[in-house]
Amino acid sequence: MEKQNIPELFGSMVFDDRVMRSCLPADIYQSLRKTIDENARLEENVAEAVAAQMRDWAVSKGATHFTHWFQPLTGVTAEKHDGFIAPSPDGGVIMEFSGKELIKGEPDASSFPSGGLRATFEARGYTAWDPTSYAFIKDHTLCIPTAFCSYAGDALDKKTPLLRSMQALNRQAKRILKLFGKDAKYVSTSVGPEQEYFLIDQKMFEKRPDLIYTGRTLFGAMPPKGQELDDHYFGAIKPRVAEFMDDLNRELWKLGILAKTEHNEVAPAQHELAPIFSTTNVATDKNQLTMEIMQKVARRHGMVCLLHEKPFAGVNGSGKHNNWSMATEDGTNLLSPGETPYENAQFLLFLCAVIQAVDDYQDLLRLSVATAGNDHRLGANEAPPAIISVFLGDELTAILDAIKKDEPYQGREKKVIKLGVHSLPRFSRDTTDRNRTSPFAFTGNKFEFRSLGSSNSIACCNIMLNAAVAESLKQYADILEGAGNFEESLHKLIRGVIQKHERILFNGNGYSEEWVQEATQVRGLSNLRTTPDAMPHLLDQKNVDMLVSHRVFSETELHSRCEIMLENYCKTVIIEGHTMVDMVRKNYLPAIEDYLYQLAKTTSMMRSVSDRVTCNYEISTMERLSDLTDYILDRVKDLEKALEDLKGKDTVLETSQAIRDDVIPKMEHLRKHVDEAEMLASEACWPFPSYGKLLFSVY
Ligand code: ADP
Ligand code: MG
Repeated sequence: MEKQNIPELFGSMVFDDRVMRSCLPADIYQSLRKTIDENARLEENVAEAVAAQMRDWAVSKGATHFTHWFQPLTGVTAEKHDGFIAPSPDGGVIMEFSGKELIKGEPDASSFPSGGLRATFEARGYTAWDPTSYAFIKDHTLCIPTAFCSYAGDALDKKTPLLRSMQALNRQAKRILKLFGKDAKYVSTSVGPEQEYFLIDQKMFEKRPDLIYTGRTLFGAMPPKGQELDDHYFGAIKPRVAEFMDDLNRELWKLGILAKTEHNEVAPAQHELAPIFSTTNVATDKNQLTMEIMQKVARRHGMVCLLHEKPFAGVNGSGKHNNWSMATEDGTNLLSPGETPYENAQFLLFLCAVIQAVDDYQDLLRLSVATAGNDHRLGANEAPPAIISVFLGDELTAILDAIKKDEPYQGREKKVIKLGVHSLPRFSRDTTDRNRTSPFAFTGNKFEFRSLGSSNSIACCNIMLNAAVAESLKQYADILEGAGNFEESLHKLIRGVIQKHERILFNGNGYSEEWVQEATQVRGLSNLRTTPDAMPHLLDQKNVDMLVSHRVFSETELHSRCEIMLENYCKTVIIEGHTMVDMVRKNYLPAIEDYLYQLAKTTSMMRSVSDRVTCNYEISTMERLSDLTDYILDRVKDLEKALEDLKGKDTVLETSQAIRDDVIPKMEHLRKHVDEAEMLASEACWPFPSYGKLLFSVY
């Protein structure tokens, strides 16, 4: 197949600005741009004109259907395809697509999680066009990014609150900029999500029910080699993987996704893809799309892409880094220190807003990444700890410290920094000390939130982050707008924020036991280790107050989300538990029994031939394996009982707690014995491919 050149290929399946500008009448184009850039209201005649052009464009690219593409709370995207065809009187068909079909759809909402919203409201829901995220063609279908709400207007998706949180931040950030004499039209947040994943051979995958049902291995003894040699990280990319990446890049580029860097990660078979950053809303849609396309392209290459946070015990799991910043409509990054004293003071104020937001709403950030899968990573010495803290690097920390104490900064110029008067000492982007153990690190002109799991939608954490930063900014604007002397008030405000929130700043090793002690005992930071620990905090009064006051969520929506997230946790682990029971009863125990039979038969035959043979190997293996089958049977019964007991729980919170305290420990216990048996039995008798085969089968 002839390969198209990249600039030509890029965005060829997207109804993007280039297409809109060339095909829409000038006034329609201007009006739509205003909606996209400044969130202006969409006029009806605009929708009608856009729909007609979109249809013609899509049909010319081979599309036969259209769909409202949305992100229900299942965490994956949803679509329902409708054909463009409509009968024409002459017996043929015409291709139809109206403005009404573009702006609104009515999928049956009743099968999507609503966390109780359905009980009180209508079952139907509707989808509404989000013109800020370009429509695209996938599999001959025109996909229109949409928000998904109930008829009463409650958000049933991740996009709606994300857009609301961006609005909230926009409102407050503009107030701040005005104080610095800047009339920004719009402040938006941007995100570059770095995506980790595993690639394994499809034939191996298909032999593992645990991977098929749960996306992760529930059993498996350690292979002789894991990641200890550090030979995979940034290593040469294997030919089969390179072909996959090449194919993937092209698919992503067609969809206008700026896939930029790719490399091998720490664990064997683990890789990473990072795009160039874009507006949060768009970045979220594209990350969902990226995950979908990765899985599809992998299959084409005879492989399976695992997006689970912890597909394999004993080697690193997969996360996602959410690089985040704020910028005005002309691209000015508000987290870049500027050249003049005023710009520096403004930078420091935005920096403080983030620091305060992370401190005040640690729990919201933590719970925004809480899932059953991610619980395996956070705090497991491979990913940031469950404790949220901020890394600023030594120089910036020293600058803040000097401001806090009103002491001369010991940098080059040695002077007391008066904000708004003196310019900030230049500090270098901390390249030497890129602290990988920090969950929330400042990296020169953006913050990198590293606690996300690889399969998480990035919407969740950005909703919380935007809202929390909007809240800090609101407080600052309230103070500064009424201030007599702006510079003095600003200085006082920034000093106050540093003093009050310095407990969240930590440049040390986040993986160490001492940090857990210090963070929780001395600094009073929260350490919410699991999803059932974290999620209920969504309904803490201070969190409800903040999110409701910025119109990011209604209280009803928060209750429903808490319910859905906990339900999701429970269902995930329950499926894992049942899969374990199934594998043990149907495969592992019978396999061990077969092997025991072989050993016993061998022993008695050997003995019948010669009484000099000791049969030490056969007998000792048989004895240990026989003991292990007893343990395994007991443990599987324990697990079955623990799963059965869940049915007696009254609330989803109680169920989730019983899963955390009872089911998961029993799953781990069961696994331990099965994995020990794997080390003793012959490979030939073992019913499933080993870790070695799974991790090293792609070359
Ligand atoms: P690394 O973390 O490997 O040093 P980079 O810093 O270059 O890599 O970027 C990592 C991710 O951060 C990329 O997706 C990049 O586009 C994104 N990024 C860079 N600048 C910004 C910004 N101002 N806002 C949001 N994301 C950004
Ligand atoms: Mg990074």
